[in-house]
Amino acid sequence: MLTDRFRRPINYLRVSVTDRCNLRCRYCVDGYFPFIPHNEILSYEEIIRFVTICAGLGIRKVRLTGGEPLLRKGVEYLIRSITSIDGIEDVSLTTNGVLLEEKVETLKDAGLKRVNVSLDTLRRERFRYITGFDEIDRVIRGIEKALTTGLKPVKINTVIMRGINDDEIFDFVNLARNLDVEVRFIEFMPFGEKGFWDEKRVVSSESLKKRIEEFFEIERDSSSEKGPAVVYRITGGKGKIGFISPLSTHICSECNRIRLTSEGKIKPCLFSDVEYDLKGLMRRGSSDREIEELVIKAVREKPEKKDERGQIKKCQMNLRHIGG
Ligand code: SAM
Repeated sequence: MLTDRFRRPINYLRVSVTDRCNLRCRYCVDGYFPFIPHNEILSYEEIIRFVTICAGLGIRKVRLTGGEPLLRKGVEYLIRSITSIDGIEDVSLTTNGVLLEEKVETLKDAGLKRVNVSLDTLRRERFRYITGFDEIDRVIRGIEKALTTGLKPVKINTVIMRGINDDEIFDFVNLARNLDVEVRFIEFMPFGEKGFWDEKRVVSSESLKKRIEEFFEIERDSSSEKGPAVVYRITGGKGKIGFISPLSTHICSECNRIRLTSEGKIKPCLFSDVEYDLKGLMRRGSSDREIEELVIKAVREKPEKKDERGQIKKCQMNLRHIGG
């Protein structure tokens, strides 16, 4: 088993398969949107080799993300390949949902069992304002099709930003009442150098939960899998809601993950700029043993928490590079 210096078991790998995206969410990209050249992105063979090595060390869960993972050609092949790696028990995907309706059946055939869809608003104009594109209908159809195709669970990730979409909290709770989905409210994190983030836009999970409890009866769901979200059932509802609180709580103590960026860097912590160059090592013809040693080193160097003061430092990169 892979364990870090703070005795946290590390069994979860998030892989960013591309930096490209078909949306331009304001909080993720700022105007300038350069792509990493194709040959600088890890090939599927390189990703599969890396996941196989990680599985041998104790990684059990893999999540594909991006950029927008469904934009990368042949992502079904990657899912099929990773699903069949010895030791990998769970393969999941995080998507903006735009291409989900057309791809969900082939994704399921490839072995995908569940999906997370990012959606910050249920209103057409606002969707266009946040993402730059008029694609809300396709995203909603994608969510519905994921449900009818039998992916389970279908989770909806919603970043709540004061003054932008915090007037839709109850609409999202109602969505989780009416559909068998888990809506997870995520605190707005400070990513990107000169982005859209502003402390004033942050709505803490605690205040959100208080507002919800004034109108809905919710009850802690102890059956939910372990993870960063604290999950609640809604009385009389089909789905659930959850709160992910990277700013206001110490989720770091339960962190079980490392990341692989689309450029082939191992990133032990989302909130730190420290990275390890896997691609360089692989492309110099290194052995599996050398790659294992890099993974073990990256895990050993995983910081205990956000930083000494428990603050999140502003990251150099936007989430589309890191893999949100
Ligand atoms: N394209 C995919 C998607 O939309 O899910 C994967 C990449 S996207 C960067 C992953 C997630 O990061 C999305 O749910 C997005 O809302 C979230 N995200 C991006 N910037 C964020 C921020 N500053 N705070 C919190 N979540 C953020």
